[in-house]
Amino acid sequence: MKIVALAGGVGGAKLAHGLAQCLPPGDLTVIVNTGDDFDHYGLRICPDLDTVCYTLAGLANPETGWGRAEERWKVMENLRALGAPSWFNLGDADLATHLERTRRLRAGKPLTAVTAEFCAAWGVAQRVLPMTDQPVATMVQTRSDGELPFQEYFVHRRCEPAVTGFRFEGIQAAKAADGVLESIQSADAVVLCPSNPWVSIGPIVALPGVMDALRSAKTIAVSPLIGGQAVKGPAAKMYQDLGIPPSSKAVAEHYRAFLTAMVLDRTDCDEAAQIEHWGIISMVTNIFMSSPEDRQRLAREVLALCEQV
Ligand code: GDP
Repeated sequence: MKIVALAGGVGGAKLAHGLAQCLPPGDLTVIVNTGDDFDHYGLRICPDLDTVCYTLAGLANPETGWGRAEERWKVMENLRALGAPSWFNLGDADLATHLERTRRLRAGKPLTAVTAEFCAAWGVAQRVLPMTDQPVATMVQTRSDGELPFQEYFVHRRCEPAVTGFRFEGIQAAKAADGVLESIQSADAVVLCPSNPWVSIGPIVALPGVMDALRSAKTIAVSPLIGGQAVKGPAAKMYQDLGIPPSSKAVAEHYRAFLTAMVLDRTDCDEAAQIEHWGIISMVTNIFMSSPEDRQRLAREVLALCEQV
């Protein structure tokens, strides 16, 4: 069964890893958000792409979900000693990724090619595609501070400013990367991982052509919210800031234009009826992934649903 997974960083990577454990490598394509990408210390940093690749490669830090396992921080310590900006943590091994990616990009290679080369080097057999080769920058519009670049809002300001909206700079001119539209069109099902609907899945869906492709596909979303709360990160707060009560129902409504089925937590089973009322199939299960076994179990249930719908 050919599966395409749409993913952001931490939540997306967890389910993508589960799917990778259940499918032959050639059957899984992961399309990753690049709206979080930014330049820091002159380096191109792609946080979601790296989180997905490190996770699939078994190189990710199991505690944080981002960055590398057994990381060292010598460079960061020395940058701090020099009084350099230190709000964005870059581990030593992680820095090698950014250095070499930046060098290859500057030599004229598209991000898609660099990502494929890194995946080969790390032993990732699944296809991992950045959503686009052109720069797209997620801008977070806030009540108190106007428009903030995503990492400024997310890491530097710790998601504190109240959100009023989002803008994906460069999205109109951006083209879905080679293989993105084609893989969605030829997939047996598209899985929307439990990633932030506003800033992780949102930019992928906003790319020209993606919404149309999703409308013609079988799409299954796993909620990133459990009991109205995000497992991690600002997804629930963003709904709240925008005047929408955070829930799996709200996530289903968010994707309503193209969604076939929604997977929600047992805690939220009372929301299933409303979701079904919108013509979206619902499946209730345990959607919290605290271990590799959880990831695999949830992936297996999602794949069974993909076969059924
Ligand atoms: P980010 O770019 O690193 O923030 O990554 P994502 O957007 O992919 O992931 C953030 C989302 O993942 C948050 O909204 C979390 O609630 C969700 N998430 C993290 N872990 C889990 C989990 O175990 N289960 C579910 N259902 N959602 C999760």
